[in-house]
Amino acid sequence: MSDPIKYLLDESKLPKAWYNLAADLPSPPPPVLHPGTMKPVGPDDLAPLFPMSLIMQEVSTEREIEIPEPVREVYRQWRPTPLFRARRLEKALETPARIYYKYEGVSPAGSHKPNTAVAQAFYNKEAGIRKIATETGAGQWGSSLAFAGALFGIEVLVFMVRVSYDQKPYRRAFMETFGARCIASPSNETHYGRQVLAATPDSNGSLGIAISEAVEIAATRDDTKYALGSVLNHVLLHQTVIGQEAIAQLEMADDYPDIVVGCTGGGSNFAGIAFPFIGAKLRHGRNVQVLAIEPAACPSLTRGKYAYDFGDTGHMTPLTKMHTLGSTFMPPGFHAGGLRYHGMAPMVSHARELGLIDARAYTQRACFDAGVQFARAEGIVPAPEANHAVRGAIDEAIRCREEGVSRAILFNLCGHGHFDMQAYTDYFAGRLIDQTYDENELAMALAGLPTVPAGV
Ligand SMILES: *Cc1c(COP(=O)(O)O)cnc(C)c1O
Repeated sequence: MSDPIKYLLDESKLPKAWYNLAADLPSPPPPVLHPGTMKPVGPDDLAPLFPMSLIMQEVSTEREIEIPEPVREVYRQWRPTPLFRARRLEKALETPARIYYKYEGVSPAGSHKPNTAVAQAFYNKEAGIRKIATETGAGQWGSSLAFAGALFGIEVLVFMVRVSYDQKPYRRAFMETFGARCIASPSNETHYGRQVLAATPDSNGSLGIAISEAVEIAATRDDTKYALGSVLNHVLLHQTVIGQEAIAQLEMADDYPDIVVGCTGGGSNFAGIAFPFIGAKLRHGRNVQVLAIEPAACPSLTRGKYAYDFGDTGHMTPLTKMHTLGSTFMPPGFHAGGLRYHGMAPMVSHARELGLIDARAYTQRACFDAGVQFARAEGIVPAPEANHAVRGAIDEAIRCREEGVSRAILFNLCGHGHFDMQAYTDYFAGRLIDQTYDENELAMALAGLPTVPAGV
């Protein structure tokens, strides 16, 4: 028999529980603070925004949290996702490395995001919520929540960052197909949106602004909650089905990764693949190097400050300690819209502080070079965000070649790029430029970080 290129798990092997890294960390992450009192927030403070079941997951230290059967039933439509051995890419690179990738692009929305969207829609439905407000940057999160909302009979209202709204009409049509309402942010529908429009009528919008608008809607209406597609503990938790499945699939391949690679925007797909491996390292001493790849134009892990900051531009969210570029930081435009966020998930940031994660930043052309090389070998066109993980994995494979050692490299191919072909068009036309952020603007955004009393 020829060497396998694909490891498929039986539906019965779909994980029964999500894995919570908080249970195994040597120290807990710093508390979330109320921006007014500077005291740790309690579950009740978050109740206007999220159903209590999700808030309890947010603060949980239980290692395993059972996946409700109705959620598993939806997962089964595309999960377990395939794990591929990239044999043709290995050949193209002439590397002795064993490269594996977990492919999350097989989901209905084409990325990992439905893993949490479905869970969040389920818990909101269970709590009697009729409507969810959210934001979307590149459109993947809005698409995923729209899909999940349709399945559970929940109305979805999406504030889409103005520039993406104009550039990606197909994303909006996708959301509307599932019955969601998609509006450009800043909008006239919220107090904050009107304020931004009054000051800057032709604002391009930003993820931070769109979050503020969605939070405002949820905070002021009883039947409406808010949902976030990344960053929060419960979102990272829901993504851990990825890494758990990968562990089982690598067992089928009789292998274990030396290196696990993921791209980081808010940190959720990275945590999804990496946290179960970090857990195995903490509990069983199974050594693994974990590598986060971020865009050089928005480098929160490698250039940000580990400090308390707001999650949004309008300063309506609680303060979390994370690697941040400052909530007013406006990253330059680049094609991996899903990675344009000023902060990093507090749990990923904490793991980095504990030395459990390495991070590297790459410019976008180098990432598209890697994505195109990958597509030509493996036949899958990665999302621009995923190209960062591909770049990281290829560079590690090249290092194996240069050092003459065979290592197992696992990366998360977190989505396909079928909605992002304009980015590829620009790449082939030589129109992609490697912008870096403005150092002065970064310094100013960091100078504006909230002051938190010593000792917290
Ligand atoms: C949203 C998105 C990201 C970035 O979000 P994370 O929370 O860091 O995973 C990355 N890749 C794809 C395909 C996305 O849709």
